[in-house]
Amino acid sequence: MNASNNPVDVVAQTTRSDLKSWVSSANDGTTDFPIQNLPFGIFTNRDSQVTRVGVAIGDWIVDLAALETTRLLTIPYSAVDNDGNPKSVFRQKQLNDFVSMGPAVWRSVRSQLSALLSEDSAELRDNAQLRERAMVRQSEAVMHLPFDIPGYTDFYSSREHATNVGSMFRDPRNALMPNWLEIPIGYNGRASSVVVSGTPVRRPNGQRKEPDDARPTYGPCQRLDIELETGFFIGVGSTLGSTISAKTADEHIFGMVLLNDWSARDIQQWEYQPLGPFNSKGFATTISPWVVTMDALTPFRVEQPVQEPQPLAYLCGAERAGVDLNLEVRLKPQAAESATTIARTNFKHMYWSMAQQLAHHTSGGCNTRVGDLMGSGTVSGPESDSAGTDAGSFGSLLELTWNGQKPLDIGYGQVRRFIEDGDELTLLGWCQGDGYRVGFGACVGKILPALELAAE
Ligand code: MN
Repeated sequence: MNASNNPVDVVAQTTRSDLKSWVSSANDGTTDFPIQNLPFGIFTNRDSQVTRVGVAIGDWIVDLAALETTRLLTIPYSAVDNDGNPKSVFRQKQLNDFVSMGPAVWRSVRSQLSALLSEDSAELRDNAQLRERAMVRQSEAVMHLPFDIPGYTDFYSSREHATNVGSMFRDPRNALMPNWLEIPIGYNGRASSVVVSGTPVRRPNGQRKEPDDARPTYGPCQRLDIELETGFFIGVGSTLGSTISAKTADEHIFGMVLLNDWSARDIQQWEYQPLGPFNSKGFATTISPWVVTMDALTPFRVEQPVQEPQPLAYLCGAERAGVDLNLEVRLKPQAAESATTIARTNFKHMYWSMAQQLAHHTSGGCNTRVGDLMGSGTVSGPESDSAGTDAGSFGSLLELTWNGQKPLDIGYGQVRRFIEDGDELTLLGWCQGDGYRVGFGACVGKILPALELAAE
């Protein structure tokens, strides 16, 4: 390997737009997983139920645990098991062990894989026996949750979303709360119910109370919704009592996923004051299985929107803190043959950046751990994002139907105010490069009917 270990060189070398792979499906311009991407995930397949780390390339997964045994992939081991013996960080149920080894190891692995998969590299390309061991078709694999997630925090960082919600439930003239332009608002979510794409989601039962009801009732959520979000995973933790500056926050982030923060609006409306959402959010959060590294996203970084007033000093200093990331939401009713796109927007509109979220989160001394998940908050953009299409540019049905007042035509002679049983919701996301795109794969969840209540 003659590649430089300098991080800037590794990023530049592995994201070059003219790179091609000998894996032909990686080169078609439409795949989410060209050689410039190389996202990490956890998988099993028919031949092996052992969970292990894989990297997506075109229609395939490179099995890093298998590759490691061939010596085509080497990492400087400092990881040991309880007996003090070296252990494989790739033969694991989650990415935590690998990611805990730090950015130099992430980059070394990315750099080695990029070289190994490039079109002129013969070692794996021309060795059928090796490919048989180390390459698995995505269509024959099952993806698992990528991280063991110690904590999940959800933010509220889209100005358009906060303005829409404030207009709907408070006052259109004072839609933003007075603190909104000063604080990246967030709350501590529920980590135990984060599930991987494809996991069915059961409609929650809960307390619902409409304004005119004397008392609440307990029963199935009537206003079930999505929230189109991205999430980022902590790759380098921080200790209790310390802070992370906005300027260096990106160095703590391993990568990003798509995130659907399922929301029970009727339950939320009744429960959220004074301490914030609880059961309305805690029943499920779906994430996409492939973690796209910040290195792969480097060419798509953009300046975040201008902030007025300028935030307090501890929230300033990050450059190119935004990501030009196209986002899409599709809805497929139970019996329908195909899905309808209901929303199109872009992550670049987010008012508060990931760096500012992390700086704020730790500003009082809260520690972070490898695998902590931070949700962006619902991504809603300006209406121009979906101009000329049938879709809207808002990341929730709450906004797309204006709290159910404007039903959405989804084709098949059907309309939606909120999600119905059997509906399948898919989030998609990709950064558009020159002749290729760095994509996230799909974040999918289908809604099952609520559990029947026991007879009284
Ligand atoms: Mn949310």
